[in-house]
Amino acid sequence: MKVGALKEIKSGEARVSLTPDSAAQLQKLGHECFVQSGAGVAAGFNDATYEGAGVTVVADAQALVDAVDIVIKVREPEEAEVTRLRAGQTLISFFWPAQNEAMLEAAKDTGATVIAMDMVPRISRAQKMDALSSMANIAGYRAVIEAGNNFGRFFTGQVTAAGKIPPARVLIVGAGVAGLAAIGTSTSLGAITMAFDVRPEVSEQIESMGAEFVFLEFDEPAQDGAATGGYAAPSSPEFREKQLAKFRELAPTTDIVITTALIPGRPAPKLWTEDMVKMMKPGSVIIDLAAEKGGNCDLTVMDERVVTENGVIIVGYTDFPSRMATQSSTLYATNIRHMLTDLTPEKDGVVNHNMEDDVIRGATVTHAGEITFPPPPPKVA
Ligand code: NAD
Repeated sequence: MKVGALKEIKSGEARVSLTPDSAAQLQKLGHECFVQSGAGVAAGFNDATYEGAGVTVVADAQALVDAVDIVIKVREPEEAEVTRLRAGQTLISFFWPAQNEAMLEAAKDTGATVIAMDMVPRISRAQKMDALSSMANIAGYRAVIEAGNNFGRFFTGQVTAAGKIPPARVLIVGAGVAGLAAIGTSTSLGAITMAFDVRPEVSEQIESMGAEFVFLEFDEPAQDGAATGGYAAPSSPEFREKQLAKFRELAPTTDIVITTALIPGRPAPKLWTEDMVKMMKPGSVIIDLAAEKGGNCDLTVMDERVVTENGVIIVGYTDFPSRMATQSSTLYATNIRHMLTDLTPEKDGVVNHNMEDDVIRGATVTHAGEITFPPPPPKVA
């Protein structure tokens, strides 16, 4: 089949869904690859590099969509992109169907199939297509780099002829995929790293990465905030008070806070309150990875870097993966390639959209003129 990558239209988005390497792999599956001219430039892949990998470069978005059977992209499509689709065509991209009902309706009306990368079930077999995790991993790494960029000191402690420098003290709140990546980056830079999560089962992972698990004295921590299925649930008011009291204790001595705490389907819990910000030393940095969902810090402004009156820098950027576009495009394009591998079981360029397959079914949000979201729960874990 003909697979084509669109240039992203969202302002500032630097990622691309096809790389010359992923195109080579797709060709091995029997697919022919296309890319919109300039789609990869911001991620470090120019048209000539694609052409060198056997990819056909097409002048504009309309020509690309007209030329291909499967359209691939990164960001959820905008209306102009959805209405270009036609019956029988497939779109693979992030989609966020629960938040984009109008777009879901519009996609259904075109008769096209939409595979939402954010709906890939988070089961072991689907990890290779789990774009949420691959992007969260980058966001966690980049959050630490961003913190370093804003912080006026070293991460690691040093004894030099010009004086003794203490190590930075970093606190990571939330140890999911992004939080664990942040912990790994922070410890490897030499900071004293502490981390907290409502899921006590992550304490071993935190400690194995050289960080200290912030322990909360609570009667039944395992039943509070840590729900079934590996995902967090909202904490009780008592647990939350304990957690905030612990953070208040840590705030005056913490140089960098990276917050990543999220509960599926809910606004981000407010965990780093205004009074904690006020307790921090001037020059301290807060990177709020939950900014898009309202932020974990009271004072976060989405997509902005603010400096408080007491000199604390709060970064609420929501485009960390795009800020590392070569890396994130490489991983995302690989996630897409794996999706297409499962869709092309015979490696003959023929797509078999098997709605009996849990992963394909889970990610398919429109198919054959129907909305197929939400999917039934997966049969296997
Ligand atoms: P996420 O981005 O949804 O949330 C980030 C973290 O915030 C979670 O660890 C959560 O426990 C934590 N959190 C929520 N409320 C908090 C609070 N009040 N205080 C502190 N921390 C709080 O997380 P994620 O990276 O998507 O991972 C969530 C779960 O999904 C984990 O169990 C993970 O192992 C699992 N997962 C599985 C797969 C897979 O099997 N393919 C892939 C990714 C994640």
